[in-house]
Amino acid sequence: MKNIFSTTKIKLTALYLMIIMFVTLSFSLFIFAGVNEATEHAMEAQRRKMERQFLSVPPQFREHVVFNSYKEDAILQIREEVLYSLIVINLAVLVISATLGYYLAERTLKPIEDMLAKQKRFISAAAHEIKTPLTAMKTDIEVTLRDKKLNLISAKEALQRTVFEVDELSSLTTNLLAASKYNNGDVYRKEIKIFELSSLIDKVIKKFKIKASDKNIEIKIELKNEDIALKADQLEIEHAISNVIDNAIKYSNEKTMVLVTISKSENKKYAVIEVKDQGYGISKENIQHIFDPFYRENNARTRSKAEGYGLGLAITKDIIESYSGKIKVESKVEKGSTFTITLPCLEV
Ligand code: ADP
Repeated sequence: MKNIFSTTKIKLTALYLMIIMFVTLSFSLFIFAGVNEATEHAMEAQRRKMERQFLSVPPQFREHVVFNSYKEDAILQIREEVLYSLIVINLAVLVISATLGYYLAERTLKPIEDMLAKQKRFISAAAHEIKTPLTAMKTDIEVTLRDKKLNLISAKEALQRTVFEVDELSSLTTNLLAASKYNNGDVYRKEIKIFELSSLIDKVIKKFKIKASDKNIEIKIELKNEDIALKADQLEIEHAISNVIDNAIKYSNEKTMVLVTISKSENKKYAVIEVKDQGYGISKENIQHIFDPFYRENNARTRSKAEGYGLGLAITKDIIESYSGKIKVESKVEKGSTFTITLPCLEV
């Protein structure tokens, strides 16, 4: 892929260069032709003037006439100097536009190169995630088939394990579809409407009540500003906020608290949603990766305790950014994390 981009960069540079050189060369030719014509006229005018001077002298004295006003050499020198300057200017334009053209080609291609690299990483990570349950399933089925004394109970158990793996695969596929859908934000139609943020958050919190109470976690909501209205696809925003609240519960110890605060930014243009937990926290070296697809903190502290595919935050970030919003995180290991989502809101 790197090779394709290098050759395309060179091709684009050559194209920019051809266009610029065509313009400057035509312009130079035009100038030189103009200078040529003007000098021809000047020489012609001088010749005529000399002829007139010559004819005004009586014939017997003509052989002694000296013409000091004839400056053909000077005029030819001007022509040469113009030609020389034009060559120098064209060479300078060639060098500058080649450098600038390459830089511009690089800038034009960079976002495409980055997007393709991101897609490539996404596809290989997705393939890896799909392969793991498939391999487990295949091994399980093969072992069961090879068992000569297979009885009904073991067969049922094997089938149950297979159903579990199929469920895993199906939920992974749903997540993958969501991730690729939000990644291409503009391709599908959003159902944009105006809705109240606090009632949406109430709805999300209700959805997680049971999951939280299973771990004895209290979810509190603090409303700092009333009536914050958003204009967006409500389901998408619900999906994004749910992911963050779900994580706050997933990555917290029992008997802790999750605090959801809703407020407006100082300039009243943004809704600010803060989700603060007292959970495991995220280490400094991992925090920069948690929004990458399939990234999961790979340590016993978090991974063993919670299930997931590492797609939730990547999806959330794509959704939030598709509305020109931002998501950031601050975290301290064993103290907890605070995720802050900022979204443009309606000014009321
Ligand atoms: P998943 O939860 O499915 O693993 P996410 O994309 O939602 O995927 O999160 C990526 C990783 O970020 C998680 O695996 C976890 O390591 C870390 N993480 C996310 N939210 C929190 C949180 N509130 N506290 C601690 N770690 C978190």
